[in-house]
Amino acid sequence: MTPIERNAWVKRLAADVGLDRCGVSRAAPVARGDYVRQWLEAGRAGSMHYLHRFLRQRLDPCTFLEGAASVVMVALNHHQPPLKPPPSRAEDCSVARSPDPHAPLSGQSPPRSEREQGVPGRIAMYAWGEDYHDVMKRKLALIAESLREEGLADGRPAAVKICVDTAPLLEREFAAAAGLGWIGKNTLVLAPGLGSMFFLGAVVTSLEIAADPLIPDHCGTCRRCLDACPTQAFPAPYQMDASRCISYLTIEHRGAIPDELRSGIGEWLFGCDICQEVCPFNRDAPPTREPAFAPRSHAPTLDAQRVLEWTPPQYQEALRGTAVRRAKLDMLQRNASIVLANQASAAQQADSAAAAASPGCASDR
Ligand code: SF4
Ligand code: SF4
Repeated sequence: MTPIERNAWVKRLAADVGLDRCGVSRAAPVARGDYVRQWLEAGRAGSMHYLHRFLRQRLDPCTFLEGAASVVMVALNHHQPPLKPPPSRAEDCSVARSPDPHAPLSGQSPPRSEREQGVPGRIAMYAWGEDYHDVMKRKLALIAESLREEGLADGRPAAVKICVDTAPLLEREFAAAAGLGWIGKNTLVLAPGLGSMFFLGAVVTSLEIAADPLIPDHCGTCRRCLDACPTQAFPAPYQMDASRCISYLTIEHRGAIPDELRSGIGEWLFGCDICQEVCPFNRDAPPTREPAFAPRSHAPTLDAQRVLEWTPPQYQEALRGTAVRRAKLDMLQRNASIVLANQASAAQQADSAAAAASPGCASDR
């Protein structure tokens, strides 16, 4: 096969194993290497010190796979279809009725499952189903095997290296380089027709495969994500201060959460989807076709009070096989305390608003 034929072939392989997008870039140092270095030097990664390690490898796949020629990037959609709306709160006069500026476009939240009777702590959508790492690795292993068998011109098998999150590769940068999408103002990859709610994976290989063209930036004058972020984690478009991001604070950060950021966390127990929920490119994103990502019993919310009372075995049992286990029990309980405090404060404000409103519940229908 020629490199151009291999490009079409690898895309067929990816589609056959249930991946939603596939693109190819040259195995070369990332174009925005200086930006990444400056971002780290500015302390934007917070306590994610592991990002400083293996930086040379992260920026250049040729450093961790000898003879690397191509990077096959894939996307696996985890977007969930809109859930049934939560039980009507309009009947509850104690709840404020002002529109939520962070209300999602797709109507899937703020979700309160029928199982959920307590204070809902929201779980980011990517963690509603099975942990994606094994799902992605299984699919990439099939592609990698085919690449290996295709072999090099001298008859040797091609070298391959699978990268899923933990491997030293800046997946977002390579996804953009492989033409999967553009990096939006919210710093996530946006793929036309797919949005941003997908997982990335890669196979670095010594096989020559034709590269795909770049996709131009379509953010235009939009700034919905920047304006919606409750903790002002975007110092500027296309720049993220991870140390202020709810996803970082609730999942990666091990210590106490700074006081000034707690109220912005709102109902988020694990992660945050706000800057994706408000993005117009996610409005009509298709639902995932991956059965492993079907929402499990902890999705879309967990009762924050119950989490606070969990013992280690209860935590393990409730979250077995899910990405929520990435946050240790003490971290989830820290997050649950913040969610409960925020809920109490919101209820107090709603009560005050209701008391100030007149003539009362019955007459404003
Ligand atoms: S995930 Fe949430 S906290 Fe983080 S940048 Fe997006 S909106 Fe802000
Ligand atoms: S919300 Fe608007 S600015 Fe932000 S990533 Fe989406 S399109 Fe770009």
